Amino acid sequence: MSWKPAYIREQMRRFLALASKEFYGGGTPNWDGTNLVVDIQIDENDMTVNANLSPFGGGYGVLVSELFTLMVEDQIAQVFVLGHEYGHGMTETVMQAAGLTNLSGPAHEVIADLISAYILSRMGIAPDQLVRALETAKEHVFNTHANQQQAGHHPEGDDRISYIQTLNVIMEGGHTFPQALFLLLEQLGCS
Ligand SMILES: [Zn+2]
Repeated sequence: MSWKPAYIREQMRRFLALASKEFYGGGTPNWDGTNLVVDIQIDENDMTVNANLSPFGGGYGVLVSELFTLMVEDQIAQVFVLGHEYGHGMTETVMQAAGLTNLSGPAHEVIADLISAYILSRMGIAPDQLVRALETAKEHVFNTHANQQQAGHHPEGDDRISYIQTLNVIMEGGHTFPQALFLLLEQLGCS
């Protein structure tokens, strides 16, 4: 089995540490004052491939279905999905930094993807490595949130991969992440 709890926890600890530096001026990443914490729990009763940011005792962690841990075998894809979930908790903060307002539904999903892709790149996962992992796992990766209202907001998997590629192109052009995010959402007609 390729779901290794200790490995995932370590990767998400690194993810939140980098997000602290990048988006929170060194403070603890939080959503409206509630901290995002390295708490990853498995819901054995959820029979879908699913992952969600969830309030646990100590803050917001991530609840994944058991099926997710079985079906998404690629470890980079696993880290990306959990990063997307933590990214939801960071969206308001990141939108402010990027000068984005009044975005909803699908734009929030794109932003969560791009936060995750950006922090993964800071963790040393090369963009083409991430894209390869997502291509392999996209059937499952992009069907998460299946039992949630939000499911309807998720753009198609191929589109989501292409936005990640576009982010890289814009950043290679010398833009910071908030600038690139603004430009990309402008291109999509969201900003
Ligand atoms: Zn989402």
